[in-house]
Amino acid sequence: MRVWWHRDGTTHVIFEPLDFIARLAALVPKPRVNLTRFHGVFAPNSKHRALVTPAKRGKGNKSQVHNETEERTPVERHAAMTWAQRLKRVFNIDIETCGECGGAVKVIACIEDPVVIKKILAHLKKKASPAPTNLLPSVRAPPQAELFG
Ligand SMILES: [Zn+2]
Repeated sequence: MRVWWHRDGTTHVIFEPLDFIARLAALVPKPRVNLTRFHGVFAPNSKHRALVTPAKRGKGNKSQVHNETEERTPVERHAAMTWAQRLKRVFNIDIETCGECGGAVKVIACIEDPVVIKKILAHLKKKASPAPTNLLPSVRAPPQAELFG
């Protein structure tokens, strides 16, 4: 592992494999932890946050929050951005547009159970790989030219 800068002039650090893996594993975040931390006016408790965010959420937006509750239902406020929209925004993965025709795609179910996912994928795999003989024309005898000559 190369260290680019250190006060005592150290340029390299050598680890035992287990130590290296332990240090590497310590960097892996826990599942479902928010990895983006905001500071300054974007911090969750900043009183100026409402002025600089598009959703106008934050501590300094009490009057506007009150207006928002009149216009939008609690469900609408909670689901301000779907996970599909977040996927598109963060990773530029668009699952709301059909890859073939460009039409709008609607999420009808979200399946997280690994057992169910395996069953569905096994079924699709079975369906997608028919025997190649199904694609061939039906079997027939070769043309018998002597019958017509
Ligand atoms: Zn389509």
